[in-house]
Amino acid sequence: MSLTPDDYEVYINYKFVSKFGVNSKTNYACPHCKSGSLVCNEEKVNIEETPNSKIERADECWEQEWARYSFNANLICDKCKESTFCVGIGNLEFYPYNGPEENAPSRIEECYAIELSPVYFEPSIEIFEIPKQCPEKITIELNNAFKLAFSDFSAAGNRIRSCLELYILELNPGAAGSLHSKVESIKQSEPSVYELLMAVKWLGNEGTHEASLKEYDLAFAFTALQHCLKITYTSNQSELKKLASLINSNRGSIIKI
Ligand SMILES: [Zn+2]
Repeated sequence: MSLTPDDYEVYINYKFVSKFGVNSKTNYACPHCKSGSLVCNEEKVNIEETPNSKIERADECWEQEWARYSFNANLICDKCKESTFCVGIGNLEFYPYNGPEENAPSRIEECYAIELSPVYFEPSIEIFEIPKQCPEKITIELNNAFKLAFSDFSAAGNRIRSCLELYILELNPGAAGSLHSKVESIKQSEPSVYELLMAVKWLGNEGTHEASLKEYDLAFAFTALQHCLKITYTSNQSELKKLASLINSNRGSIIKI
């Protein structure tokens, strides 16, 4: 199978880091109530330009896009009002003015606004919703991956690899050997998740051995894992699977009246 320009475009657009502005709602769900959104309010955020960025302002070619910032914020949930702390970096983003001419800004600087990019959340943010029936040890390891995901893509990929190892052992407790052989061992019994989990394994390997994972690689691994966990642990799916296997072993309806 060869990579087409469309495949490349789709893959490179996988992402999970979402920037946010001051006085705006972020795209992050509250880790406390899981239903509200985190909001960045002006009075709860500290932003400072980095020392290097200040030095670079002396350069005669300096442009707004060069500016770099650090921030810490207390993000508030719009539902439960609880706090989630976040540290990260910022830059200036250009927003072309499209309004009526009489209100047009007089200086180009006014068309720039700070965009904040998270590096660490406390408590950690759930990048995807983990099914409630997912075994606790997998959930713990996934949360470790979520914790590292914003600051170190490869380290998070390494956690995903451990997660995969635990997951495969849940699917096939007898799986042995290298992680590759363990994933191979579910090829026949779990065809609906096998291929995606093998892809997660390759990405996890790169995170562990080459530390070269990019955001799109990690985002793809999260998406693939989310899909598989849903198939395995969403009640409807596992219920269907269990009933189907009972019907199969019974060679007909499980209830004979
Ligand atoms: Zn909340």
